[in-house]
Amino acid sequence: MPDLRFKPERAKFTEIPRPKRAEGQWALGYTEPLNKNEQSKKDDDPLNVRDRILYTYSKRGFDSIDPADLRGRFRWMGLYTQRKPGIDGGRTGSMEEEELDDRYFMLRVRSDGKLLSPAAVRALGQIGVDFARDTADVTDRQNIQYHWIEIENVPEIWERLDSVGLHSLEACGDSPRPFLGSPVAGVAKDEIIDGTPALEEIERRYIGNRDFSNFPRKFKTAVTGHPSQDVSPETNDVSFVGTVHPELGPGFDVWVGGGLSTNPMLAQKLGVWIPLDEVPDVWAGVAGIFRDYGYRRLRSRARLKFLVADWGVEKFREVLENEYLGKKLETLASPESPVGHRDHVGVHEQKDGKFYVGIAPTAGRVSGTLLVQLADLLEEYGVAGARLTPYQKIVLIGVDGAVVDALLDRLDEIGLSARPSAWRRNTMACTGIEFCKLAIVDTKNRASDLVDELEKRFPDLDTPITINVNGCPNACARTQVADFGLKGQLVVDEFGEQVEGFQVHLGGAIGLRANFGRKLRAHKVTSKGLDDYVSTVVGNYLADRTDGEAFDA
Ligand code: SF4
Repeated sequence: MPDLRFKPERAKFTEIPRPKRAEGQWALGYTEPLNKNEQSKKDDDPLNVRDRILYTYSKRGFDSIDPADLRGRFRWMGLYTQRKPGIDGGRTGSMEEEELDDRYFMLRVRSDGKLLSPAAVRALGQIGVDFARDTADVTDRQNIQYHWIEIENVPEIWERLDSVGLHSLEACGDSPRPFLGSPVAGVAKDEIIDGTPALEEIERRYIGNRDFSNFPRKFKTAVTGHPSQDVSPETNDVSFVGTVHPELGPGFDVWVGGGLSTNPMLAQKLGVWIPLDEVPDVWAGVAGIFRDYGYRRLRSRARLKFLVADWGVEKFREVLENEYLGKKLETLASPESPVGHRDHVGVHEQKDGKFYVGIAPTAGRVSGTLLVQLADLLEEYGVAGARLTPYQKIVLIGVDGAVVDALLDRLDEIGLSARPSAWRRNTMACTGIEFCKLAIVDTKNRASDLVDELEKRFPDLDTPITINVNGCPNACARTQVADFGLKGQLVVDEFGEQVEGFQVHLGGAIGLRANFGRKLRAHKVTSKGLDDYVSTVVGNYLADRTDGEAFDA
């Protein structure tokens, strides 16, 4: 394994002009912290907070927690304070973070694309029941997210997670955030290459590794060898996307610098071919560039996408090859982007003759009880396990053909249908004002009501129309790449009052027709008026479409 720690002498190969204004790039000698986040990370490696949680805070209670840990380093352990109930979004902007803090936590558990055994699904559900007031949402980064967690219970939760091979280490913070992996890795008939060994090796080498625990900000990873490119590779900091070299066989292209939020950018494609066993080294090289050259002065510019945009993809590749890998990468035209579903909902035959079954919770809302019920079904029907998807769905892996029909009926009974309406299938929502301190509006409940209403108004919709509901401009549920991208904000209603509502981005997509939705000034809608707004736009589309015309065409 190469030594990838930053060494200033490595910077000799590539001409990187020293900017007039310090951006906090370590590789250019700007190692003094330029803001309080950088100072906090310098004061103490955030990974050290684990022991304080285990041996001090969980024993002495919430009031013993150092504020610098509470609002900073706790994130490296997947813990955020949740929003105090009863504070409306309109007041959020004028309040200090402390005023919004509840004494309870959100805990994010990473799955990293792993197959969750029935025992793991049961453990995840039981944690929700026992410690999280029955919450357990599926996020669009393949996490399980709990709320109402008390600090006293964290050690036991971590123990239970550890017993089924799971953890919350670096699930948040300026760290290698949870990885996205193809939910059908190793089983899909049409798979190009199984990226699972690479994801496992990246996790083994680099998660919890102090060489990679202080990035300028978050760093998101995706790996897929499925032709549908089912991990939203366009919107991650680094993505490995399956491709076939005519002589060397299956491998991966590398895409860098994707990210949404307030300055959305799609990832740029390096146009290379790397074999499976080199993915961890290349990951560490890209992560090393981000750590060493990433901008640290302004949090709003501290994502890899800004560096990629400034350097251009050629220079990025040159630095990666010269300074981090010590070798040239094989050039290969990037794989074509596909069109169509990437969520694996429904029943599909696996390459071993068994089946995988994609099921659709509504906007990612699950519960501890529901996960326990799902574990019961997995055991009863001899299913190998489940994977979470980047579309807030769940895929059951290894279902025997003889039990598929019976299993589908039982799944319908518990509200996890593999035969959802087009609306239930294609709607996602972020956490929103219920628990998120940055939120301006409600999202999960609003999305669920919208789906119920659209199912009544358009019961036979025959085309996928995606709706991503976000509680603020941060775009955690990928505002800009949905047909209806909804960004939560206050809007003025017909009586001149400021109320919860959304700025609409229309016609966004990823895949073959990748582009950001158009933000139309006039398209602001109150939360109350959302059902009618979507119905009007969809009604117009259905009335005017020509044969086969997609919504975003
Ligand atoms: Fe919170 Fe905003 Fe992200 Fe939604 S988009 S989870 S409201 S930060």
